[in-house]
Amino acid sequence: MESIAQTAETDVARKAEYNANKLAKRLRHAVGEAINDFNMIEPGDRVMVCLSGGKDSYAMLDILLNLQKHAPISFELIAVNLDQKQPGFPAHVLPDYLAKIGVPFRIIEEDTYSIVKRVIPEGKTTCGLCSRLRRGILYRVADELGATKIALGHHRDDMLETLFLNMFYGGKLKAMPPKLVSDDGRHMVIRPLAYCREKDLEKYAVIREFPIIPCNLCGSQPNLQRQVVKEMLNQWDKKFPGRIETMFTALQNVVPSHLADPDLFDFKTLKPTGEANPDGDKAFDRESFQDPIPAESVVTFPNVLASKRESGCE
Ligand code: SF4
Repeated sequence: MESIAQTAETDVARKAEYNANKLAKRLRHAVGEAINDFNMIEPGDRVMVCLSGGKDSYAMLDILLNLQKHAPISFELIAVNLDQKQPGFPAHVLPDYLAKIGVPFRIIEEDTYSIVKRVIPEGKTTCGLCSRLRRGILYRVADELGATKIALGHHRDDMLETLFLNMFYGGKLKAMPPKLVSDDGRHMVIRPLAYCREKDLEKYAVIREFPIIPCNLCGSQPNLQRQVVKEMLNQWDKKFPGRIETMFTALQNVVPSHLADPDLFDFKTLKPTGEANPDGDKAFDRESFQDPIPAESVVTFPNVLASKRESGCE
């Protein structure tokens, strides 16, 4: 017979398993939805899945492999990692993992690290050249592999961070698209994690025990501006639950006639239609919204009862 402690342990394990299944389902659903909404993967595609060794790209591969098994269409996946020869890069980790899970893969070894170190003066940021070199190599490999799509592991929070970075520092209303044509005009790039929350991906990586490779091996300083924006979004998420979701919805709900870009909307030839539109712009009225309730002031059920008693409502 089980002791009370054993029963409690079994309950905890069951709950953890239930939550893990729920999380996996949520992520698979989000990836499936994004693939569908943007027609990311088509029958016969050969998708080159770019792996960095970070939590996001591991999760992307894992979820795509699962979807591949159940999808009504047939497509190929091939995992690709670029070993940039950064000092301390554990070169065996990804090949071991990929061989274990039985996915076709290719590891490319190119010492871009030495090039970047040689060309960029000490103390200057190295990411520009490093990513340019990486991009060129990955495009070449995509050609060699006959890949019809290149999948990158950026998620919803990356997209929102990019939106704010562009607004704050770039003077552009521009985020990160779920699907795009590469800058050389020859490749389709997709972001199957576009609808996934970073928090979920973090939890998933822990549950699935991905062998994460540290991302600071190049010795580059983290992008300070991105860190600041990330922190701002995290604060909002804590203080105003739902705000991140609303902002992401806004990315899919753009109203060009209510921005101020004459290239996007033809303001010059705009004329009255003569027909009333109940959903039309009131022009003189400013839009007002209900403020989201800050998380700390959300009153829990017992507190509501307590406050009612104090104010004599009962
Ligand atoms: S963080 Fe390091 S590896 Fe990543 S782009 Fe910058 S220099 Fe390259």
